[in-house]
Amino acid sequence: MRIDLHNHTIRCNHAKGSMDTYIERAIKLGIDIYGFSEHAPMDFDSYYRLDFNKMNVYENDVLNLKEKYKNDIKIILGYEVDYLKGHMDERVLTSNVDYLIGSVHFLGEWGFDHPDYINEYKNRNINQIWQEYFDAIEAMAKTGYFNIVGHLDLIKIFNFMPTKDIRNIATNALKAIKKSNMVLELNSAGLRKPCKEIYPSLSLLEMAYELDIPITFSSDAHAIGQVGYRYEESIALAKKVGYTKAVTFEQREQQLITF
Ligand SMILES: [Zn+2]
Ligand SMILES: [Zn+2]
Repeated sequence: MRIDLHNHTIRCNHAKGSMDTYIERAIKLGIDIYGFSEHAPMDFDSYYRLDFNKMNVYENDVLNLKEKYKNDIKIILGYEVDYLKGHMDERVLTSNVDYLIGSVHFLGEWGFDHPDYINEYKNRNINQIWQEYFDAIEAMAKTGYFNIVGHLDLIKIFNFMPTKDIRNIATNALKAIKKSNMVLELNSAGLRKPCKEIYPSLSLLEMAYELDIPITFSSDAHAIGQVGYRYEESIALAKKVGYTKAVTFEQREQQLITF
């Protein structure tokens, strides 16, 4: 079975194409389970995400597509939620969806994954940046709000690498992910970025496997051509580490599938 659980829509103002065309592309590629996980509303950086007053419309759109295409593909409903202290909202955290992806895109107010703010890397200590990022992932996992960890090592996006061993930096975060029963996504968007590598790296995925943390697959599509992006490489990475099963969600419950 083929799954792709992290995908965006035009409602976040930085993705292109109608929801129908994403689904038609997914069907063409033979994807069996497709998840919409729009950037959830937040009172920070609010332009680049759904509006609070559009949550119902988004959720209904997905549920209507789920019905419309039910003979061809299974569609599930989620949100990608920013872990950002003081800006998480009950309306999102308690929404009636199949799953929530928890992601860290900001360290304080610094949007570290955006090319416009890349200079900030030079103003800080790179080991501290990485530690601060994985501390945020650990804190995100400990909240217990989320089902999937979004792009575990997003902080590698521009190839500013720490001099310390990344495995040590990430250990506590991975332990917290295991403890909170979360799932790691193999997110192929990294292959489209300067780091040119799937999130997470081989060494972090090996640690996850040893901790018995389950995985799922995602392309983080913001355009039609990104649906199912370089899926074979994600499958190959998972198999290399030893994984044979992946997780999908229904009403926040995990279901195992063989990929
Ligand atoms: Zn996005
Ligand atoms: Zn993200």
